Amino acid sequence: MTTLNQQAAQLFGLQLTATQAEQLALYARDLADWNTHTNLTAIVDETGIQVKHFLDSLSVVTACDFTTGPKVIDIGTGAGFPGVPLRIVFPQIQLTLLEATGKKVAFLDHIINQLHLDHTETLHARAEDAGHMTGQRAAYDVVLARAVTRLPALVEYMLPMAKIGGLCIAMKGSTAQTEVQDAKRALNILGGRVKSVESVQLPGLDDLHYLVIIEKVAHTPPSYPRKPGIPARQPLS
Ligand code: SAM
Repeated sequence: MTTLNQQAAQLFGLQLTATQAEQLALYARDLADWNTHTNLTAIVDETGIQVKHFLDSLSVVTACDFTTGPKVIDIGTGAGFPGVPLRIVFPQIQLTLLEATGKKVAFLDHIINQLHLDHTETLHARAEDAGHMTGQRAAYDVVLARAVTRLPALVEYMLPMAKIGGLCIAMKGSTAQTEVQDAKRALNILGGRVKSVESVQLPGLDDLHYLVIIEKVAHTPPSYPRKPGIPARQPLS
């Protein structure tokens, strides 16, 4: 198997240090260990973690410069994707891992301690509540989310957290373009504009992945996000 270091270099021009490679290996080991008693992920085999979790998470480097140390939030991060691999490779970022499920937050706190990840915190909350919190609303340069919900609802979670001029990057599968069409009204209301949709080809996978890159161009009205559950049940589409 091609090593993670080789693939990260070939695909994204990233040169992982020995420490970063070791941190990723420890993360993979603890993810598989914890998954035996806590439901964190369906992907626990070595190749799956390398490609579908680590390389897929790192693909966001094609959309944004993380070397400048931006303030980043990963919404619905689950077991830490894409946020944790990104933080390992770019120690200069300031990262918030937002997750609604307590047992996943417990795993994230464990990983932060194990890997000594500074400037990294968990937030155990729903995105609909976090979007109204002082210190969270309009606080981030980059807002990330992978596999959380369809784009019309997802932008209601993401855009309130971004600063004006900040970026939201939604990691999507084959439905990306349809979801962008369906999210037009929500984007208008919430102050977002699609900058581009970039495809990502990962080794050994047939289907392309997509990064939907959205700029925050105007303030989000204070009534958004709506109460927990409403954005997903009644998306602004
Ligand atoms: N982003 C991770 C990944 O790609 O592996 C996890 C994806 S998992 C399918 C979706 C996660 O989003 C779950 O852990 C769930 O608890 C979280 N989630 C869903 N809705 C949420 C909300 N409104 N606020 C915060 N977290 C949410």
